[in-house]
Amino acid sequence: MLEISNLRAGYGAINVLWDLSLTVQPGKLTTIIGPNGAGKTTLLRAIMGLIPVMQGSITLDGKPLNGTPTWDMNLVSMAMIPEGRMVFRDMTVEENLMMGAFAPQHRAGAAANLEKSYVMFPRLRERRKQLAGSLSGGEAQMLAMARGLMSDPKLLIIDEPSLGLAPVMVNELFEILGRLKGDGRTIVLVEQNTQRAVGVADHVYLMQSGKVVLSQAASEVSLDHLHDLYFAR
Ligand code: ATP
Repeated sequence: MLEISNLRAGYGAINVLWDLSLTVQPGKLTTIIGPNGAGKTTLLRAIMGLIPVMQGSITLDGKPLNGTPTWDMNLVSMAMIPEGRMVFRDMTVEENLMMGAFAPQHRAGAAANLEKSYVMFPRLRERRKQLAGSLSGGEAQMLAMARGLMSDPKLLIIDEPSLGLAPVMVNELFEILGRLKGDGRTIVLVEQNTQRAVGVADHVYLMQSGKVVLSQAASEVSLDHLHDLYFAR
């Protein structure tokens, strides 16, 4: 579905990603892990068209994404949930969700997608009239994810959703990721929580200094080996 080959990208004269290639299979959860500064967020920025591709290609269902402006990404049916769970604090939970279906092509499906969101995230239904600014960190993360799903994207990209969450919310988050995967969603998950990410994933990519240093089916990953690679510089 998503195919990245020989990608080089970075910031101005500074190159961060070096000939990076990876594939995301439809209906699978692919996780990208790696230490701080490995280039995970830079990779997501390149996919979303926020930084230019210097070399290589990014295609979605065979169509090149290079050059697609970020604001058109929902036309190609991709949604990204950035790190930091940005919600509209002065709007209610339900208003935030409806913003996820604001684009004209998504409005017809909004009511059905809202109901699906509430089934997936029952806590949000309970809190639908509450201002998003008063949600806990975990609830705000759920809201950011549910809002991303309101456009029914073919590909959902989630950047570090467990960052800063209490352990009980981390459990709930990974349980929901497992259910989204069970629904046949195609997901790219960038995570620092290696063990949990590998536990929920179908395929694992480990990044190190802007390169992929491991690509393996999650069922075959040895956490010890991963640990050794993770800390090798
Ligand atoms: P983290 O887990 O800490 O978010 P990461 O794997 O997502 O790390 P990136 O944020 O992609 O890593 O950073 C990769 C490299 O790019 C780092 O060396 C970082 O300093 C550099 N970098 C990130 N943003 C910029 C920027 N706007 N301008 C210049 N360099 C940047």
